[in-house]
Amino acid sequence: MLTLYVHIPFCKTRCSYCDFYLVTRRDHISEFFKALSIETASRLSEWKGQTISAIHFGGGTPSMVPERYLAEWLDEIASMCTFAPDIEIALEANPEDLGGNAMDELRAAGITRLSLGVQSFTPEKLRALGRDHSALESQQVTASALQKFKSVSVDLICGVPDEQLPLWKADLQAAVELQPQHLSVYMLSVEPKTRLHRNVVCGAVTVPDDALQASLYEHALGELTIQGYTHYEVSNFCLPGHHSRYNLASWKREHYLGFGPSAHSFVVAEGQEIRSANVSSLTRYIANPGSAVAFREELSAEERFTEEVFLSLRINSGLDVEFLRKENKLGLRLSQTIARFEERGWIEEHEGTLYLTQKGFLFADLIAGDLIFG
Ligand code: SF4
Repeated sequence: MLTLYVHIPFCKTRCSYCDFYLVTRRDHISEFFKALSIETASRLSEWKGQTISAIHFGGGTPSMVPERYLAEWLDEIASMCTFAPDIEIALEANPEDLGGNAMDELRAAGITRLSLGVQSFTPEKLRALGRDHSALESQQVTASALQKFKSVSVDLICGVPDEQLPLWKADLQAAVELQPQHLSVYMLSVEPKTRLHRNVVCGAVTVPDDALQASLYEHALGELTIQGYTHYEVSNFCLPGHHSRYNLASWKREHYLGFGPSAHSFVVAEGQEIRSANVSSLTRYIANPGSAVAFREELSAEERFTEEVFLSLRINSGLDVEFLRKENKLGLRLSQTIARFEERGWIEEHEGTLYLTQKGFLFADLIAGDLIFG
C-alpha cells in the first residue's frame, strides 16, 4: 500500500504566522499541473500497479485551484496505480473557497475527505489571525461539508495573541457542537521569519505564555476525550475510523511519495530507508519537474532510531520498550530517564509499551530527546 501527498503551493495572501512554502500568485496554476503530471508519470513508473490507500492534497490552499485540475490528475494516477476500494482522497480547504457548488464539484472530482482550515469559530480570533472568512462562514461551511463528505476534519488554532481560557472554551465548544469526525488542534507557534515573529519581537502583539498555552491544550485534551474523540497524535483527535490516513502513515514511517515543490517523500527500498524533498521553488519545479530535488539521503541506523522514537511517542500506539532498550546507547541512564519521566507523570508503561500521558504530550520532543541522548 502506498500513500501520496501533493503540495499545491498557492495562497491568496500569506497569513502572518505561516512559514510553509507557497506563492501568492495564481498565474502559474496551469503550468504547475503540467509539471505535476510530468513528475508523477516519471516517479510513479517504478510503482506501477501498486495499490494506493490515501492521497492528500495539502499546501498552500488546494481549494483555490479549479477542481478540473484535481480530477484530471487523479485520472492520471488511476491509470498507473490501483485505488484501494475505500481510498481516502483528502483536500485541505479554506472556508471562503467553498461557496456555491464548490463542494459538489470537489466530490465529483473524487475528494472523499475535507480538511477545513477553519482555525476558529470566533470573530476576534479570526481577526487576530488575519483570516479571510467570518465566524459564521466557519460554522456554515463545516455544517454543509458534514452533509456532503464521508469525513470532515476541522483545524483549530489555540494560543492566538491575547487569547484566554474562556475564549478557547467557547471556540472548542462551537466546534464540538458541529460534531466533525476529526479535529486538529494546533498551538500557535511563532516561527522565525514570519510577520507574527516580527510583531512579537517588536512588542506589537503578545502571545500566551507557556503556562497559559499548557492550560489551553490540556482543556482541549480533557474536553475532546469527554466528547468521545480519540487523541491519536499530539495535535489530532478523531471519532472511530476517521484518523487522517496519509498523516498516520507518515507518523508510522510507512512509505509515501510527495509531489510538488517542497514535498517530502519516504521510501523503503531493498532494506534501505530513503528520505527526499523537492526544491522549495515553484519556478525551479516547473522548469525541471521530476528532478527538482533539494535533497535525497539514506538514513543511517542512528537516524532511523531517532525518527522511530520521536514519531512513536507522538502517536497513541506508543513506543516499544524492548526496541528502545536494544537500540539505545544510554545503558543504565535509560532506566533512570524513564523513571524520572514516570515520576513526573509524563510517561506510563503498559505491557512493554511507553505512552505519553496528557501532561507528557506537552513535552513530547523533550522526552524523546532525553530518551535518545540522555
Ligand atoms: S492559508 Fe494556510 S497555507 Fe496559506 S498562508 Fe494561510 S496558513 Fe499558510
